Amino acid sequence: MADYFSEMGWRELADGEQPNHFLHLARLFRDYNMFEELNSLNGEKLPPPASKASVEALIDEKITQDGHQCPVCLKDFLTGDVVKIMPCKHKFHPECLLPWLSKTNSCPLCRYELPTDDEDYEAWKKEKKRAKERETDIENLHNSMFS
Ligand SMILES: [Zn+2]
Ligand SMILES: [Zn+2]
Repeated sequence: MADYFSEMGWRELADGEQPNHFLHLARLFRDYNMFEELNSLNGEKLPPPASKASVEALIDEKITQDGHQCPVCLKDFLTGDVVKIMPCKHKFHPECLLPWLSKTNSCPLCRYELPTDDEDYEAWKKEKKRAKERETDIENLHNSMFS
């Protein structure tokens, strides 16, 4: 792919030339927008299943007091029931949670995400995190330019 900026006649700095802050900002925005597009594409499909290891690592807990409900089937947990606890502390019947996690990796209640075995998805998540950091960069840059 030809670089957009070289097509537009931008070039690398010559010795002693001052960097063009506007160009830097434009580059940040360009990268950020590309990410936004990716994000909306991805938004249409469900994240992949939780990884086997992360599902096996979920903690079991025996219910010792009443008053809690499984968010999936909305039945009360009974004393003596063994439930699965997500890292976000939400509790579910294993038979309610496990089929869910075999389809997608997030808590049915709060969308807390477990790791997946899907390399593409994990790469996308990293990219998403980087874009967030870049967003902070843009803000800092904006502040340094206009304050
Ligand atoms: Zn349930
Ligand atoms: Zn949760």
